[in-house]
Amino acid sequence: MLFQLQEIDQRLHELERLKFDIPERIGALDRKDEEISTRLKAAQEQLEALQKERRQQERDLQAAQDQIKKYMGQLLQVKTNKEYDAMQHEIAVYKIRIGEHEDAILKLMEAAETASQTLEEMSREATAGQEECRTARTQLQERLSAIDDDVAVRLDERKRMAMKIEIRVVQTYDRVCRGHQTDAVVYLKKGACGGCYRVIPLQVIAEIRKMTRVITCEACGRILATEPELG
Ligand SMILES: [Zn+2]
Repeated sequence: MLFQLQEIDQRLHELERLKFDIPERIGALDRKDEEISTRLKAAQEQLEALQKERRQQERDLQAAQDQIKKYMGQLLQVKTNKEYDAMQHEIAVYKIRIGEHEDAILKLMEAAETASQTLEEMSREATAGQEECRTARTQLQERLSAIDDDVAVRLDERKRMAMKIEIRVVQTYDRVCRGHQTDAVVYLKKGACGGCYRVIPLQVIAEIRKMTRVITCEACGRILATEPELG
């Protein structure tokens, strides 16, 4: 009966271990989910930065064009050659700037196009990835509640099993369990303790066979039993 009790406890122990892993795995999924969002947000910000820079370049281009128009108007009113040359020089400078702005706008448009495609791809992947996370999380949560149900059943089973055994024996077993969680009761193996392999004296083995009291291994404290076919 102690072995049956131990079997239930081993299953409970196993369930606790499974349960212990699940929140960690859910946490990992949450982190993955968050990571995807962060990457997506960074890509969005990059695209927005390119668009903002382009708008700035367009404003600067417009300003340079306005400036040239203004100089062209003033050109008609200049009195000296020197003034005329200076004005022409200014106009030339602004024309160069216009060319630079136009180049920059083209490059920014291309970069934004690429960034937009990347974002679209990432967006698709992110949706799929996050969907995967959601499904996996739901499965884990379902498993967690299934484990809880299983634990409740085993605990009930354990209670009923423990009631069949002498209270003293259960107490000894529970005490030994605190040191040896999953193998508090062991069979003798070739005259030795099945837990720590300490050789057990013959008169002690004879006493174990009688089963009149609980006998524990002097070395490791486990409860000793003889194999059914040998006992
Ligand atoms: Zn032992």
